[in-house]
Amino acid sequence: MNQTWQFDTIAIHDENHSHQTKPIAQPIIPAVAYAFSTSEMAALVVSGEVEGTFYGRYGNPTTSKLEEKITQLEAGEASIGLSSGMAAISSAILALVQTGEHLLVTKDIYGGTYNFLTHLAPRFGIDFDFVDCTDGEAVQSAIKDNTKALYVETPSNPLLTIVDLRKLSAIAKEASIPLIVDNTFMSPYLQNPLCLGADVVVHSATKYINGHGDVLAGFVVGSKRIIEFIRKRIAGDLGQHLNAWDAFLILRGLKTMGIRMKAHCQHAKQIAEYLMDHPLVEHVFYPGLANHPQHQLAKQQMNDMGGIVSFELKGGLKQANDFMNQLKLIIISFSLGDPETLIQHPASMTHFSIPKEERLTFGISDGLLRLSVGLEDPSDIINDLEQALNGVMEEGVGDEEKKMFSK
Ligand code: PLP
Repeated sequence: MNQTWQFDTIAIHDENHSHQTKPIAQPIIPAVAYAFSTSEMAALVVSGEVEGTFYGRYGNPTTSKLEEKITQLEAGEASIGLSSGMAAISSAILALVQTGEHLLVTKDIYGGTYNFLTHLAPRFGIDFDFVDCTDGEAVQSAIKDNTKALYVETPSNPLLTIVDLRKLSAIAKEASIPLIVDNTFMSPYLQNPLCLGADVVVHSATKYINGHGDVLAGFVVGSKRIIEFIRKRIAGDLGQHLNAWDAFLILRGLKTMGIRMKAHCQHAKQIAEYLMDHPLVEHVFYPGLANHPQHQLAKQQMNDMGGIVSFELKGGLKQANDFMNQLKLIIISFSLGDPETLIQHPASMTHFSIPKEERLTFGISDGLLRLSVGLEDPSDIINDLEQALNGVMEEGVGDEEKKMFSK
């Protein structure tokens, strides 16, 4: 692939045009098994001495094309496409941490990652601790002799906390452990953790990378050694491969990633500013707002502020439910990064499995909502938010609540 092209060009084009004809859209190659010229060649390919595709669980030509692009867009050495973001996260952790070893994890993370760490990882003897990764000293002192990796999400889900990747990578290097970063909320368009010193990047490509809400997929990007280990020893054996059909859809979605991400960011900023001024809104979490605790850091390590806005309503659970139920355009749903604006209530949806006391220590209150701002006209999104917020204000608000809602 052309090394001098810019992001959008790499995302759209395959390679320099030749005089021969070739398909512009990537072909879908669904074949499971691949033929060898000789039995000796079969042995060489299977042993890895000669590069080649041999069986669908260990690689596919359409998926390989996509992996090449993701590797380049994340500025990595190699990448592997997997069946979901959770397949990517669990594979990366299993590749780096084993029985009797310890993982250090930032304190607010996606609920599925929390589930994996609290339920499945202990069955394999993997120990972990949560640590506030905005505090470098706390991270340093939480590293144990058997700590084998540091895992962070930035911005985090759902509170949009930003951690300093340069600082954390320096701490990790000092301790000779790899830094793994979940870059889902940013996409490779807005942040490249490997360029900031991280060792491994994981993505839920279900979100912005595909961008159309019709594929579950994940990626791990890192050194050739780690990616080959995941391909052969984890994903291949567990059967977590990304199939050719889904890889094709992602290759198509990637072509518009640049313009999609720009629009997501522009719309999210407008909506965050709108929500800041509404009397029913207690707090808005958006790294692009000057009052965000890591606003300056966000400006240094991210190309823009992303499409997710979280906010807390005054009142709590009842107000959050009433508000969501009055929305007419915005869809109540789990995912994020789609063209449609989606809203979810972390306490009862994505982070439901975290016990309430623990959830509250992470800052995920009953009144917190997470909005994945879509690509619709932002004035329509704001009008919908406005009518639902005003509906909650007007409905059943007694004198006490009126006092509470007035700023
Ligand atoms: N990482 C983050 C930050 C997420 O928000 C999600 C899902 O919402 C995942 C990982 C898991 O992705 P998937 O649903 O593709 O397994």
